[in-house]
Amino acid sequence: MKINAEETGIVPTMINAASKAKIEVHTLRRNISVLEGSGGNIAVLTGEDGKLVIDAGFTVSKPRIAPALKSLSADPITRLINTHWHVDHTDGNAWLHAAGAAITAHENTKKRLSTSTRVDDWSYTFPPAPPEARPTTTFRDVHRFHHNDTTLTLEYYGPAHTDTDISVAFEEADVIHVGDTWWNGFYPFIDYSTGGGIDGMIRATKRNLSAVTDKTIIIPGHGRVGNKAGLSEYCDMLVAIRGNVSKLKKQGKSLAETIAAKPTAAYDAKWGQFLMTPALFTKLVYSGV
Ligand SMILES: [Zn+2]
Repeated sequence: MKINAEETGIVPTMINAASKAKIEVHTLRRNISVLEGSGGNIAVLTGEDGKLVIDAGFTVSKPRIAPALKSLSADPITRLINTHWHVDHTDGNAWLHAAGAAITAHENTKKRLSTSTRVDDWSYTFPPAPPEARPTTTFRDVHRFHHNDTTLTLEYYGPAHTDTDISVAFEEADVIHVGDTWWNGFYPFIDYSTGGGIDGMIRATKRNLSAVTDKTIIIPGHGRVGNKAGLSEYCDMLVAIRGNVSKLKKQGKSLAETIAAKPTAAYDAKWGQFLMTPALFTKLVYSGV
């Protein structure tokens, strides 16, 4: 399905899709599963300390997410981690908190969720999240703790997709959630309104590559769960398109001329079929070079 995000508005499009989507549950390794279908991919760690959930999806999906979580185990929900502040990863914070989750995120996620925030490329202004939906545990660089016999390492990327992005590694299981630094199979959105940029995205992707092995299970923010080979292909795509767009911009081409020159053409069939069309993605890269 090809969506013209400029005509329909990305936020209503995402909420509408989530309101209809089935929630798919996949068990990955040990006691770790992923729920797909409501905004960003949701990871779940089950066990006697209670369920730990990474990202909250959209509230409209609660009637399908709640039973999907129940189907994994009878453990109560005790913790929620947000990979970044975006609505498709934090909209469900309030109900998950009401269900028992204490919320952890980067300090900038709390900052972004505590004020009214405009995302220009989505033509959308988000009101502050209600106080109960904001993180109560925050950190700046690295945050490590144990839960359900698992060592969790949360690490800040620095500015990447936004200025709030973290990775969450399940150390013993060799599984990592990399949030929206990776859209598996799609051009990624880059949120310049809240501190993101193409160079930060490439930097984050290279860090992800250096942090994983061929055996690591990698949960992207969007798209299917993947591996190092897929992440590597994504990295090559980002670097190549950045190079093409930068060359055109240096030649003095305007944004319209750069889009017309189709600097993403070699990649569109594979990566350009979701929210970020070739023209939109070209614009996002052009803004950052
Ligand atoms: Zn995002």
